[in-house]
Amino acid sequence: MDARTDTNEAPPASKRPYDLVVLGGGSAGSACAAEAIKLGHERVLLINDGELGGLCILEGCMPTKTLLHPADVVAEVRHAGRLGIDARLEGVDMGALQARREALVARFQRAKVGGMEAGGYEILFGRGRFVSPTELEVATADGATRRITSRAFLVSTGSKQFVPDLPGLGRPIEGGDAPAPFWTSREALLADRAPQSLGIVGSGAIGLEFATYFAALGSRVTLLSRSPILRRGEDPELSALYTRALEHAGITVVIGATLAGVRHDPAAPEPFAIAHWEEGHEQVVHCEEMLLATGRVAMLDGLGLEEAGVEVERGRPVLDDALRSTNARVFFAGDATGDRLILHTGNAEGRHVARNLKRLFADEPLVPWRERIPLMALFTNPPYAECGLTEHEARARGLDVVAARKEWANQGRGIVMDTEPGTTFVKLVAERPSSKLIGCQILGPRADDLVHVVSASMFLGGTARDLVGMPWYHPTLSEAFIELGRDLARQCDPEAVATP
Ligand SMILES: Cc1cc2nc3c(=O)[nH]c(=O)nc-3n(C[C@H](O)[C@H](O)[C@H](O)COP(=O)(O)OP(=O)(O)OC[C@H]3O[C@@H](n4cnc5c(N)ncnc54)[C@H](O)[C@@H]3O)c2cc1C
Repeated sequence: MDARTDTNEAPPASKRPYDLVVLGGGSAGSACAAEAIKLGHERVLLINDGELGGLCILEGCMPTKTLLHPADVVAEVRHAGRLGIDARLEGVDMGALQARREALVARFQRAKVGGMEAGGYEILFGRGRFVSPTELEVATADGATRRITSRAFLVSTGSKQFVPDLPGLGRPIEGGDAPAPFWTSREALLADRAPQSLGIVGSGAIGLEFATYFAALGSRVTLLSRSPILRRGEDPELSALYTRALEHAGITVVIGATLAGVRHDPAAPEPFAIAHWEEGHEQVVHCEEMLLATGRVAMLDGLGLEEAGVEVERGRPVLDDALRSTNARVFFAGDATGDRLILHTGNAEGRHVARNLKRLFADEPLVPWRERIPLMALFTNPPYAECGLTEHEARARGLDVVAARKEWANQGRGIVMDTEPGTTFVKLVAERPSSKLIGCQILGPRADDLVHVVSASMFLGGTARDLVGMPWYHPTLSEAFIELGRDLARQCDPEAVATP
């Protein structure tokens, strides 16, 4: 319902309800606000609790990659001997690494905030909560309270660490003290020394990236994973190769470990004892520090969603295919959806909500949200990246598909780069009989960039035959796509490929 109801004359601009109020000014929220202004909505307000910049810049994508880059350099130095280079690692100045992280985060934040301030929307600092389906109350940074009405709302309040309800984690050990002082990604990011031993629980992006980082810095890292690495092991061969790559980087990987609880004895040389079940037996990993990387969930605490008529199920807002909640004027984007907690997806969701506003106000059907080409990268060493569908997903959807794979260690540039055999792969998936590309998974050097060769082809509707016909510079890693394209084209149409 439009809140501007009781008069035919438009009230003065400052008294009119907002067209859009964005609750949470991280990446998804600011993308939505900026797009709404670009599309001609004049009254747009963004409310943010705390510092501007968002998780990505302050504690997520950018600071982790800032630390992972030097970790990659350390790994290169360690392996330089294999190339005939007499290089010795004298040590890593963690203070300098952290100072660089702080400086770069400040620089990224300045650029982001500058863009937001020039965005044409109002910014209000404070913590907002719904008090009715059309009204928010904001406890502003100066201690005042403001009531704000709007014709539409976006909730983009981000996410928080998921803490399992187990002894020593979500709850105290029976008869014991408070939960163990484990690390989340925040503490791992700020660590000014590498612990002697680190136990990591969880093998999602955060667990894997920090395992790479601390292993490169010399920590003895044990990674406990409930299921096989990478998409719960849906492709056992890829999963095994990735596990081997992690082990090659010095990480101990324990698959099939179900967490039971954690004890913390500050007096012990390795204060953490992580109890877990492995093949029916209880095991314990002792370590100096423990990183909990069991995933993040939507941050919906204290938002008054009940007052707004927004339903939540299993910690996620109930959304329709246009990202609209059970309150027809309240939308969600970014991590607050609880689904695909990835930066560019959140931004695209935010922009999508803004593009639907005019339809919403005109009572027209909304355009459904669809992520055209899902993309994901893990900045481990070696990195992993994927786009589109995996072979498993495609078959589960009933598609007739073909797949081809290759190891970088069997490819010219991969050999030159001394890629470790048995720790890399590149896999392409295409539909039969068209040979249309529908997915790619890469583990190996520069995977995070190389995957865009395929996502760009997919974006343009490319086929395996296009890959064969394209020019490729020699010698590059990308050249692997010629052979894979040829393989897929042959599987789709053996006769056509046989004919020169
Ligand atoms: C360690 C780590 C590494 C990551 N690396 C990558 C990566 O390499 N690539 C990638 O794609 N993604 C990565 N991510 C995920 C990525 O950072 C997030 O998906 C993205 O930043 C989420 O953006 P958002 O706008 O949804 O939320 P946020 O950026 O978290 O913004 C939410 C904002 O809402 C505010 N807020 C919350 N409640 C209220 C309230 N009641 N009132 C007002 N304001 C409120 C918060 O203060 C915050 O400013 C990483 C995440 C982590 C933790």
